[in-house]
Amino acid sequence: MTDRLYYHDSYLTDFRARVVDVSPDATSPDRRRVYLDRTAFYPTSGGQPFDTGELAGFKVLEVIDEGDRIAHLLDGALAEAEVAGRIDRDRRFDHMQQHTGQHLLSAVLVELFHAPTVSFHLGAETCTIDVAGALKLEQLREVERRANEIVFENRPVTIRFQDSSEDLGLRKPTEREGLVRIISIDNLDRSACGGTHVRATGEIGPILLRKLDRIRGNLRIEFLCGGRAVARARADFDALSHIARAFSSPLDETPVLVDGQRDRLQESERTRRRLSTELAQASGRALYGETVAGPDGIRRTLRHVESLGEEIRVEAQTFTTSGRAIFVALSESPPAILLAVSADSGVNSGEVLKRLLSATGGRGGGNATLAQGSLPSATALQELAESLSQELKFPV
Ligand SMILES: [Zn+2]
Repeated sequence: MTDRLYYHDSYLTDFRARVVDVSPDATSPDRRRVYLDRTAFYPTSGGQPFDTGELAGFKVLEVIDEGDRIAHLLDGALAEAEVAGRIDRDRRFDHMQQHTGQHLLSAVLVELFHAPTVSFHLGAETCTIDVAGALKLEQLREVERRANEIVFENRPVTIRFQDSSEDLGLRKPTEREGLVRIISIDNLDRSACGGTHVRATGEIGPILLRKLDRIRGNLRIEFLCGGRAVARARADFDALSHIARAFSSPLDETPVLVDGQRDRLQESERTRRRLSTELAQASGRALYGETVAGPDGIRRTLRHVESLGEEIRVEAQTFTTSGRAIFVALSESPPAILLAVSADSGVNSGEVLKRLLSATGGRGGGNATLAQGSLPSATALQELAESLSQELKFPV
């Protein structure tokens, strides 16, 4: 059974231990799975990730809780019988801040709004807790304010071992039998927990609530504590300053300015669309006027365009609406074709294009007067254009 040194002292990062078992790792023959008589390395459990660091100079890649024993996965073949271990202190302290912050937040959520925590996840960038029940944004602001108030009061956070038969007065009942490790925040919370925590709430640092999501009937609250909260606030400020500079506006006035700009942009976009439709209609009419009809009375035009957008469809439809007309548009990249015909042209555009597309490996279709398709290559487009010109009697 491994003696878990972190149970008594979360601040211990350097320790010595005896190796009790070493075995090659199943996934890689160069790696070793090492068991010690005692360890300060925290294994992944209860939503908190494992510690990283070194053991006898080898990198600790993973720490696994196997119940009675803790396995350390090393990146090399350990030979010593006694080893020195060192934990990455920054990573551990970060986990302590987030984890203790979670206890505090969960307790405040119960204290203020009777909202129990269902689960907790400590991620590489952010942490989340899932809370049962529905809370409003203003209520969460109140939770954030109260949580930080308790941080400022710097209340002691203590570890005690008590027997499960006693009245433990826990926030959430435990199923553990025998000795239970209890983490208390003075006058606020008592939780059964095997994780690593700071010794007073002041060390949690600022607590910042962020994103809210509804997940399977629960509320998922993203939060950050201590160093993470400061780093996030710095990144937010940098991003907001960048936006404010782009708008040449003081930071606090930028949200209102952005709303105004967005409204104006939507208005401009509506105007642009209207004008571009009008322009396309005018082009279609002008093109019809200057196109000479063939001996059969049909006006034919073939346009090379950059892309087959809404404008070209409007131009094509305007051209063919006037009657006895065929309009073809080709775009090179991506290779695509549009065929519009008037109802009295004697041509069914959907049928003709579909047949020619399937002969050239293209895809698409449409109705009797307007059809469109895409081709696999410029050569295929060229081939289709030639067949189409021939079939629809375009002048060579
Ligand atoms: Zn805990």
